[in-house]
Amino acid sequence: MELLKNYINGQWVAASGSEVLDILNPAVNEVLGRVPLSTVEDVDRAALAAQTAFHSWRRTPAVERVQYLFELKNILEVEFEEISRIITLENGKTLGEAKGEMRRAIENVEVACGIPAMMQSEFSEDIASGIDEYMIRQPVGVAAIIAPFNFPGMIPFWFLPYALATGNSVLVKPSERCPLTMKKIFELLDELQLPPGVVNLVNGGPVAVNAILDHPLVRAVSFVGSTPVARHIYSRSAANGKRVQAQGGAKNPLVVLPDADMDMTTRIVADSAFGNAGQRCLAASTVIVVGDARNTFPEAIAEAAAQRVVGFGLDDGINMGPVISPQSKTRIQGLIEQGIADGASLLLDGRQAQVSAYPNGNFLRPTILKDLPLQSEVTRTEIFGPVLSLIQADTLDQAIEIVNQGQYGNMACLFTESGAAARRFRYDVQAGNVGINIGVAAPMAFFPFSGWKDSFFGTLHGQSRHSVEFYTQTKVVIERWHREWSRTF
Ligand code: NAD
Repeated sequence: MELLKNYINGQWVAASGSEVLDILNPAVNEVLGRVPLSTVEDVDRAALAAQTAFHSWRRTPAVERVQYLFELKNILEVEFEEISRIITLENGKTLGEAKGEMRRAIENVEVACGIPAMMQSEFSEDIASGIDEYMIRQPVGVAAIIAPFNFPGMIPFWFLPYALATGNSVLVKPSERCPLTMKKIFELLDELQLPPGVVNLVNGGPVAVNAILDHPLVRAVSFVGSTPVARHIYSRSAANGKRVQAQGGAKNPLVVLPDADMDMTTRIVADSAFGNAGQRCLAASTVIVVGDARNTFPEAIAEAAAQRVVGFGLDDGINMGPVISPQSKTRIQGLIEQGIADGASLLLDGRQAQVSAYPNGNFLRPTILKDLPLQSEVTRTEIFGPVLSLIQADTLDQAIEIVNQGQYGNMACLFTESGAAARRFRYDVQAGNVGINIGVAAPMAFFPFSGWKDSFFGTLHGQSRHSVEFYTQTKVVIERWHREWSRTF
């Protein structure tokens, strides 16, 4: 059974510690490989390599740096199927979902290829007589990326292409639950023949993460994961004087007005709630059904949800794979039971899913809890599984109030045919990503992946121009020269 290595200074090297974890295929719970839990020394080695490489990488012109990204895009296209297959194997999502994820990853490489223009500076002539002032952007140094399990291919790419293109060296710490995708990506990065140390991969868990947060050479930390860990990352990085962007968990509300196109809405909401087995930070978690929508929406969404075919994501015709682990499955079943105990009724019960060909998988089926009381703990808890709760409201105002009571602010969506209602919603709702007749409001690579409240700690988000700002520090120069050109040669 393969034990993964770290990739440091252009070499595959064994981690120094002895602790390892099994990497499991969640559809069968068979071991795919083993991942080392790297130590403080491993992180130190990677940070030193990255810092050494940074000196010459930042001097490489941006137009030359992006040539590596053009090449990376080509290699990712060639290896698209294989990377997607690895994502399905270690994460459980369907092959179609894995391909969607990798498409989003590649789009970020494409956008970062525009860094020579995106990094351009500002220049003001004659801010005082004969004096000019300008601002240039310089890379910050070693940038660390700490990723979650649910998008093992895409999420590191919210950061990596921009960090590299702006002239930083990079250290990636993937999720210890799904590290095989980044192993494959780093094999491809290795083919690019980047200068040694420009990209580094350190496998591991909290020990490696904390070593990154404490390492004096790491200047920027990009994190995506659950809210308690995001909070920890934000405060510990800040205490150590680093810039940090930490994207956290979510509990996304969708509001359905009675004038919505119910067929379209039902289809979109079902995909949002049950796609990726509900393990998306932009998954619909709660639908607030307004007014007479109560007469049509609950039955329609239950029917759409019941049709989803659950199974191993590499098989044809599968709409939903397993959740990541047996522990996760048990936790989700427990939350469904708690919702029922708190007064919800079960419109659709997916707790006991058996997929005959894969009896050991972590399968659940779509579950819908109706009339979940607002005061129930389940209303506030991120379930991160294929569970949708329905809540009733009388008016749009009341629905917006319920949305804004939530601690998270990753996404909020409205389904309506009314432009006035849509405007009101996007204006007042407290969420960073808003969908109007959209169920997964995932920003394209040229927009920031926003997030508010407990879904984000920091100022600058991933993707887009935000990344350029995050990975560069501004330097302002005020310059005076003799006013008259008098010298003769
Ligand atoms: P997680 O927080 O358990 O792990 C994320 C990373 O943090 C991993 O690399 C892990 O090794 C590390 N980590 C875990 N515990 C740690 C600790 N105590 N100290 C230091 N490091 C630690 O998250 P997950 O379960 O892998 O991913 C799911 C979560 O990520 C969900 O909450 C989901 O909403 C969130 N997520 C958010 C976004 C977003 O854009 N806001 C996107 C995807 C996922």
